[in-house]
Amino acid sequence: MSDQLQILNFINGQYAEPLSNEWLDNVNPADGQISGKIANSNSADVQAACAAASTAFDVWSNTTLEQRSSILMKIGNLIEVNLEALSVAESEDSGKPFARARDLEIPRAASNFRFFASAISQFASESHESIGLNAINFTLRQPLGIVGCISPWNLPLYLFTWKIAPALAAGNCVIAKPSELTPRTAGMLGEICNSAGLPVGVLNIVQGTGSSAGQAMLEHPEIKAISFTGGTATGEHVARVVAPQFKKLSLELGGKNPNIIFADCNYQRALATTVQSSFANQGQICLCGSRIFVEAPIYEQFKTDLVARTKELNVGHPSLPESTIGAMVSRPHYEKVLSYMGVAIDEGASILCGGGPATVPGYEGGFYIQPTVIEVRTNQCRMNQEEIFGPIVTLMPFDTEAELIELANDVRYGLSATIWTRDLDRTMRLSKKIDCGVIWVNTWLMRDLRTPFGGMKNSGVGREGGLEALRFFTEPKNICVAFEA
Ligand code: NAP
Repeated sequence: MSDQLQILNFINGQYAEPLSNEWLDNVNPADGQISGKIANSNSADVQAACAAASTAFDVWSNTTLEQRSSILMKIGNLIEVNLEALSVAESEDSGKPFARARDLEIPRAASNFRFFASAISQFASESHESIGLNAINFTLRQPLGIVGCISPWNLPLYLFTWKIAPALAAGNCVIAKPSELTPRTAGMLGEICNSAGLPVGVLNIVQGTGSSAGQAMLEHPEIKAISFTGGTATGEHVARVVAPQFKKLSLELGGKNPNIIFADCNYQRALATTVQSSFANQGQICLCGSRIFVEAPIYEQFKTDLVARTKELNVGHPSLPESTIGAMVSRPHYEKVLSYMGVAIDEGASILCGGGPATVPGYEGGFYIQPTVIEVRTNQCRMNQEEIFGPIVTLMPFDTEAELIELANDVRYGLSATIWTRDLDRTMRLSKKIDCGVIWVNTWLMRDLRTPFGGMKNSGVGREGGLEALRFFTEPKNICVAFEA
């Protein structure tokens, strides 16, 4: 193990070892080797972070909008300056192809800061004149104080900054925890914030496990809000801990999203995008279309073509440009995803391609899985009801629009859906009837940062993005001023 790589906390503008001096291994999923160690923080580190944030709040909440926005813009620009190094770290931590980190995810982290640097100046508050009563109401949007941001490992810096940027833009101080599986780029963000001139203590990054560092954040009385992205089971736990304390809470949770393909679609676009929405990031995106429903007249053709395209994907070391599929994030997750191959067989489903681990010569210790397409007979099976979060999709035909709506909604999740059709009326009917927070028509994962983002049902509570995020990270206070006529 290299002694060089130590992933530390970032508290009060300085890198710091965990107060307990406890450490976790940082494992590279591409080869299964330990590549460094990570601070395993506990409530004492969270307390230190809160103390720093508490002191910084007065400064940051009174910083002019122009200064605040300029610092956030600089952070975005510095992320771009460090694109290469951040992309290497992200790929080594998570197993995702380097090109994906460099071309999509790290640039998006830069955009998150730039977007909220600019959005904050458009964040107007409301006013209402109480006509006839000689009074005027206006609403102050005040920062909450110290807020907690907890993010997962699948899109590490992308989702970490998606929370931190609006929280800072709104004038809050932040305690943020990345996943212990992917701590590196979050760690690098501290130095970037210092270089951009963010006052010390405004952003504090606490590394370590959810059960220790994360739990301490949930319980800390000075943390006024929790913005959480992760699995539904963890979200349930977070809600239970946070509710009695009356903290504000935003939950972005799991998905089991339908990808719906009608016979009148642009077939080639639907097919090519379905390969993406099934296997991008090894299927480890909450928005992946893991349940594919195809209209009966084109079902057999689509099945043949999807299997052929899936077989062309190249599972390989994430650093290589030809690798379209990298490694799963960790051994436990790899084993969990692989266990679903057995579930499929037990349920009588047919594995059309893939179906097991993939071997990458020279990297036999890595956590690689073959992209897998499975034909299921019913939506009421574990393969279609449970979030697998790996490179496994299921396929089944449907006959009518009414049947399709039932299939799409017959699941406890409600994050996103993708619909492929040229029929505008059908698009509108389905968009209104499918219970989920995000619908893409004839595209997938096209994001405009101004739009609300989040899930219904067990996929979450609240919305992120654009004004929704700024609303979440502020407290509206109505002031009613009466005047003499
Ligand atoms: P996870 O296990 O729920 O963890 C998410 C975060 O919560 C991690 O930082 C984790 O820390 C932390 N955590 C765990 N236990 C905690 C506790 N008791 N208190 C406070 N924090 C705690 O999820 P994951 O496996 O990292 O991510 C995959 C899941 O995220 C999938 O279900 C996916 O669908 C979902 N996701 C949703 C969205 C969305 O926008 N809806 C986006 C991306 C991912 P450690 O990992 O260090 O323990």
